[in-house]
Amino acid sequence: MTDLHDAAALLGADGPFAREVPGFAPRATQQQMAAAVADAIDHRAALVVEAGTGTGKTFAYLVPALLSGKRVIVSTGTRNLQDQLFHRDLPRVLSILGVQANVALLKGRANYLCKYRLRQTVESGQFKSRAQAEDLQRIREWAERTRTGDRAELAEVPEGSPLWPRVTSTAENCLGVECPFYDECFVFQARRRAQEADLIVVNHHLLLSDLALKRDGYGAILPEADAYILDEAHQLPELAGQYFSVGISSRQLKELAADTLAECAGQPGALALLQPALEGVNDAVRKTRLAFDALPRRGAFAQLEADAGAADALEGLGNTLADLAAVLAGQAERSKGLASVHARTVVLDQRLQRVTGSADEEEVRWYEISDRGFELSATPLDLAPQLQKLRDATDAAWIHASATLSVAGRFDHFTRPMGLVDPVTLDLGSPFDYAHQALCYLPQGLPDPNAADYTVRVIDAVRPVLEASKGRAFLLFTSHRALKLAAELLADAPWPLFVQGTAPRHQLLSDFRDSGNGVLLGAASFWEGVDVAGDALSCVVIDKLPFASPDDPVLQARLDAVRRAGGNPFRDWQIPAAAIALKQGAGRLIRDVRDRGVLVLCDPRLTTRGYGKMFLASLPPMRRTRELAEARRFFARSSETMAP
Ligand code: SF4
Repeated sequence: MTDLHDAAALLGADGPFAREVPGFAPRATQQQMAAAVADAIDHRAALVVEAGTGTGKTFAYLVPALLSGKRVIVSTGTRNLQDQLFHRDLPRVLSILGVQANVALLKGRANYLCKYRLRQTVESGQFKSRAQAEDLQRIREWAERTRTGDRAELAEVPEGSPLWPRVTSTAENCLGVECPFYDECFVFQARRRAQEADLIVVNHHLLLSDLALKRDGYGAILPEADAYILDEAHQLPELAGQYFSVGISSRQLKELAADTLAECAGQPGALALLQPALEGVNDAVRKTRLAFDALPRRGAFAQLEADAGAADALEGLGNTLADLAAVLAGQAERSKGLASVHARTVVLDQRLQRVTGSADEEEVRWYEISDRGFELSATPLDLAPQLQKLRDATDAAWIHASATLSVAGRFDHFTRPMGLVDPVTLDLGSPFDYAHQALCYLPQGLPDPNAADYTVRVIDAVRPVLEASKGRAFLLFTSHRALKLAAELLADAPWPLFVQGTAPRHQLLSDFRDSGNGVLLGAASFWEGVDVAGDALSCVVIDKLPFASPDDPVLQARLDAVRRAGGNPFRDWQIPAAAIALKQGAGRLIRDVRDRGVLVLCDPRLTTRGYGKMFLASLPPMRRTRELAEARRFFARSSETMAP
């Protein structure tokens, strides 16, 4: 059995981390978290930990996980974090602990080169541009030398290249054991390595795909484990909704038609038989997309059903899919590839029938249209029972960690949708000295956020703060419209502006850091996962409380469900969700013990509405002011401190 104090002691002042990691500061909260994680692993318990920025939570879970001698799966929020954990943090912890452990990195199959599809793509010889042909050449050369097939190794071919979907696989188009490349397949090699590993690093998307497969009884991707550690766990309730949905998209249908066509090669007569049915599917996809033109971009299924043109188009689509399935049934025995596309057609036909079929009280059916396609989904409203059942079946420890899980000291907004009943909860706060390092400024005199001139007034209120901070600020917006207007209003500002959408995110961030006095304007994706420590960022401005859009059909259905169950949707769902999002945004400000900065919260509802208190109580304990002069003094003192 693990000595529970070991992990904490190793991270203490006399431990090897303090000796070997340059700049390592022993933190009581990190040791406390390590002890709690060790305890949860030992007792196969559920643990929910909020560990503020600066706690060092990665070491706090890796150390007890590696000391436990048990099989542990660690899941991160994104592939970048996954790579960072596996290639940077894990080797470091292993070496400091002197532990020999078999560790593996496993991503979703779309991240690995598929040799079968690469061969098909090369043989097809069809490319839309010269750039694509060049990208394919790069992929072919890399395919000869790579040992993992992980496309992260080949940065030269952009992530968004249309070639990647043609040379990687999906669960639907993979031939599995029937594939001529099965023994040397990168996907299955990575999975085999994971089967043998003591510690496996995955991401939430893969973990949830695995859970969804297990729920449906279709097998598993991941091996069984004694403990699951979920970092950035606040993302899980929303993501789980996506993975536990049933859906069908125009992209899947077009890929099915293209793959079926490719499988006709070398099968005499197949093309002549299948071509009319394939054209029927492609034509029906086009007509369906056109018929959706009159509808809002995203909405509840009822809107779609009320539109006669859209409903007819969907019926036509169902008929063509059934026709294709019937023709393919007669060809399936001719090759493994044709058998596979037949099986896919049947599954897609079933999904279409399921989504367009009768409504279920427990789920919300919705559609989304993009410029080129559409997606139809049925999303369960309450995932708690399913998640609880899946966790119970593992008989493992489930550890959930994030900097933002609680709202005003309570965890139920997270634990309820996750189906966690009475887990151990731990609110560690942050080791930063917020009272001295930060100031929260709530400008006076701003109008209601719905006022037509709201953004203009926000920028007027923020300008003097930016003058005092000498730029070095993030301006975070809740809508792209406000972001665009703010960028126009600040076009004559004396600081370099970095506006979301004008360059790739990593480029904007690196230019912002280098500028030293930049102002970055961002919406959605800049509210979390952005880390700018040091003087380049000394001010974070938030225009409005980040309430989710009430137009979202899934949110609407969830709120209705809360109402039906006798709850108050605003109090029980919208406020906690917005408070978590606000915490994420505000969390960009202080990233290091030496950082100092001002958080500017413009939304007047924080002081005029009763619920404002709950938002403020969810933020780190920083001093608050309504006086601009106080914010100016804070910056003046900061520059004195910074002066050599
Ligand atoms: S087994 Fe599947 S993923 Fe692997 S090479 Fe074959 S088709 Fe591609």
